[in-house]
Amino acid sequence: MDSFEEIFTKKIREADMVLVGLGEEFDQMNPSENAAFAESEMMAQNLKWLIPAFRSYDTSQDAFEKREKKQKALRNLAELLGKKNYYILSVSQSKMVSETKWREGRLVMPCGTVCKKQCEHGCAEEEVTALTEEEKAEISRSFERFEVASKEVKDFLRGDAENMPPEVRVAMKMIQKKEAVGGAINALGIDLRKILGKCERCGGNKVFNVLQAEKYDEKGYLKDWDHYAKWLYGSMSRNLVVIELGTAESYPSLFQNAFEKITSLNPRASHFSPGDENFENVIDWLAKL
Ligand SMILES: [Zn+2]
Repeated sequence: MDSFEEIFTKKIREADMVLVGLGEEFDQMNPSENAAFAESEMMAQNLKWLIPAFRSYDTSQDAFEKREKKQKALRNLAELLGKKNYYILSVSQSKMVSETKWREGRLVMPCGTVCKKQCEHGCAEEEVTALTEEEKAEISRSFERFEVASKEVKDFLRGDAENMPPEVRVAMKMIQKKEAVGGAINALGIDLRKILGKCERCGGNKVFNVLQAEKYDEKGYLKDWDHYAKWLYGSMSRNLVVIELGTAESYPSLFQNAFEKITSLNPRASHFSPGDENFENVIDWLAKL
């Protein structure tokens, strides 16, 4: 039997149309306990819209290495797809998916992206706009400052309270950590609001155009969605191959169920999920192409 690498390239080569589903695995998940703690603090401070950006911009070394490999895999995938008639449907909100050089107008991100901003109140007349390179660079610097602050918190917590009984020490450190990380996140939120600016209609703050925003503004992707739906309609009776990468089961209506329906309606379509392989293996392979 052919290896999944061979099937993958063969499927793409032979297809008239290719639909690629990119899952949440492309959002950089920092597995560290500190990242999980920081995210819970963001929730507590009503900064949920910040979480996908935190995953996307995370400047820690470990996150950086993982991100670099995924970035390369996506770049190579775009090259492999070349001028094929393809569409990328991504639930990942990451910068790397947004910034990969796909064919013009062939990417739809229904859960939003950290590369666009919207009014926090979702004002109907206010546009959802793409971030400028300058804004992105400033955001990166804010996250770097946050990373430094987090390190200081860690160092501070390592020392101190040596002579206390262990249970007290644990409790003390928890309180200190909450205060210190909370403070760093509050500063990060203030920084980012300054960079993203204000809504011209209501004067509210701008936030990232992501599903986690309190009033997610769907204008950010609806035009692309219409285009995608038409493209998909046009795939009927064509040799369509549907590929899923890094999709877990959290969006069945977008992925698994939808893809099964597409392939059941179109006898020439096939559904291929190398996700049955370990996702990391697929990324390793794509990154080395
Ligand atoms: Zn507004």
